[in-house]
Amino acid sequence: MPRPEVLSWIRQQFFPHVWCPGCGHGIIMHALLRALVAEGKDPTKTALCSGIGCSSRLPGYINTCTVHTTHGRSLAFATGIKHAKPELTVLDVMGDGDCSAIGGNHFIHACRRNIDITAIVMNNNIYGMTGGQASPTTPVGSYATTTPYGAIDPTFDICKLAEGAGASFVARSTIANPVQCEQLIRKGIQNKGFSVIEIVSSCHTQYGRKNKRRRPIDNINFFKENAVPLAKAKTMTEEELAGKIVTGEFVSRQSPEYTEQYQKLIDRVRG
Ligand code: SF4
Ligand code: MG
Repeated sequence: MPRPEVLSWIRQQFFPHVWCPGCGHGIIMHALLRALVAEGKDPTKTALCSGIGCSSRLPGYINTCTVHTTHGRSLAFATGIKHAKPELTVLDVMGDGDCSAIGGNHFIHACRRNIDITAIVMNNNIYGMTGGQASPTTPVGSYATTTPYGAIDPTFDICKLAEGAGASFVARSTIANPVQCEQLIRKGIQNKGFSVIEIVSSCHTQYGRKNKRRRPIDNINFFKENAVPLAKAKTMTEEELAGKIVTGEFVSRQSPEYTEQYQKLIDRVRG
């Protein structure tokens, strides 16, 4: 049961939620709420955006300023909100398809601009809501409704993509480590710039249904057994890391934040 201060952030009138029993997304939502409470955030000064998908139902359950937008475009809305009201704490939740396929362009440019938004990518390696289609993070060889003979497309590494595109804080955890999820979200919120926290999640109803080759039972034990902390991963070979999920902080760097640069530009033009 969530603590009372966490419960005050929940719109209980919208429960029961739509997520399947055993879905990992509830663990992420609880970690996010604990992070917001721990950071002393005010719900009236916090904006939470989402696109389309199971992950994107999350803001509907949270008692703050929320926007449920179009597929893949939530970062464009979040960017507009942060631009208009830089004093707000702005967060964005996305699924793997929402972030790296339909919204891929918005994602790389938000990273490039280093705008002060915390993006939480709920990566379950599949399109859950729409019926188990392969996404850009579905592992090679995995079965999905659109890859009935096994996926042949190489996958995106969301964290490497974010790092290469310029995000100033990049980290990964899994739903098997909710304490780490909370800590990383807190660091993302504290970072003055674009923060990406990828949380590898489960979709046992869609991913497990078609994916007989990998993760046949997509439960919490899979994540416990296959998560490898970054420090340990550095001592392992590429073969040993195959199929593992490296977790921890990959990037934490100071770089100019977009809304501050924009304000400086306005000041300079106005003389
Ligand atoms: Fe979760 Fe998958 Fe069910 Fe969507 S379809 S709620 S991602 S388990
Ligand atoms: Mg997904």
